[in-house]
Amino acid sequence: MLARPEPLPMARFTRRSNPPRHRSYQRYKPYLRDDFGYACVYCGIHENESGGPRFFTVEHYRPKSRFPELRNEYGNLLYACAVCNGYKGDDWPSDHPLADGRGYLDPCEHDLAEHVGPAGDDEVAGLTPVGRYMVERLHLNRGLLRKIRRLRREDEELHTRFMKLADQSLRLLEVELRSEAIRSRQRRALEQELVALRAQYEQRRAAWERRWEPRFTLEDYR
Ligand SMILES: [Zn+2]
Repeated sequence: MLARPEPLPMARFTRRSNPPRHRSYQRYKPYLRDDFGYACVYCGIHENESGGPRFFTVEHYRPKSRFPELRNEYGNLLYACAVCNGYKGDDWPSDHPLADGRGYLDPCEHDLAEHVGPAGDDEVAGLTPVGRYMVERLHLNRGLLRKIRRLRREDEELHTRFMKLADQSLRLLEVELRSEAIRSRQRRALEQELVALRAQYEQRRAAWERRWEPRFTLEDYR
């Protein structure tokens, strides 16, 4: 998995307890998106990074082929990207994955970060037997995920560098403006520069804080 995009929870998820009743599991997609933070519960890829909700599925934790009675049961539904959903398919080797070291942990019951963690080189590794099973079966080191991990890391670094530089420049400008020695024309230019930089700084910070808000909706595909 990827580190959960902040500010999404790192620990286990909580499903809403009483969604409206629907006869078709597909109708639950809007609620699942919301409950699971617009990201795949298995690999952590976010809708904004992979084309929006069209590429995400209503995932049956217990496969519907083997548990038809749970087909439309909200408590059995998760939000997963189409790729993880496809790899998992009907695979269900154990009803006790933690004890048996095989199978899939329910992200509403377990904190998956305790079972799968970063392993360097933009890869992840299983920290427990069941974690290793999930990494292997869900292909959690596939090329796209490694690339997205790298892009996220680079974005974080770039953002941190920019904010630090902008912060330093703002301070320098403020100090310069306090000096008595500068002429009024120079002062006006510096003040304008300060206002422009401050605006850019705030804009950048706000955009960064909003980066995990969903950019696409289900209506976008109509
Ligand atoms: Zn996924």
